[in-house]
Amino acid sequence: MNKALIKSNDDLISWCKCTSPAYASSGQLDCPWCGCGWLFTCVSCRRAFSFAKVVSSEIPLRQIMQQERSSYYNQPVALDDREVISRTEWLEFELEPLPVGSICAYLDGKVLAVDSTDIRFNGWFARHRLDAVPQWSARGSKAKIEALLGSKAYWLERKLTDGEVS
Ligand SMILES: [Zn+2]
Ligand SMILES: [Zn+2]
Repeated sequence: MNKALIKSNDDLISWCKCTSPAYASSGQLDCPWCGCGWLFTCVSCRRAFSFAKVVSSEIPLRQIMQQERSSYYNQPVALDDREVISRTEWLEFELEPLPVGSICAYLDGKVLAVDSTDIRFNGWFARHRLDAVPQWSARGSKAKIEALLGSKAYWLERKLTDGEVS
């Protein structure tokens, strides 16, 4: 058994309609404001959702990440593919401190327990200084989250410059 992330619910924003466990990963590209930087991506259908839950899974994380890369490239990818391995290591690292049952949100390369406070880190794209998890604070208000993490200005104002380590 190992830890994995599945869709927790359809609160806030959730385009994924998968009913069998919808495994979560990051689909982040160079446009984090579109949602790819602050929503999870379903490994199967590649649609986004806001909240995921840490579960113990019989399916090895690497196999889940293999499925993720295969859906990304729309063709089968090998288990020993370099990207599969590095994404597995990333998610293992993120899940390590989170107990099974934790509800989480995604932000810029980090998986955050939704009750986290005083959030300070340099992500893949930007520097974040937040009192609470914005997706959690914005539950019930898409407009609220669109105005913050969905705003291009939020990201560009905090963008890491060359030389800053993420
Ligand atoms: Zn899905
Ligand atoms: Zn994007």
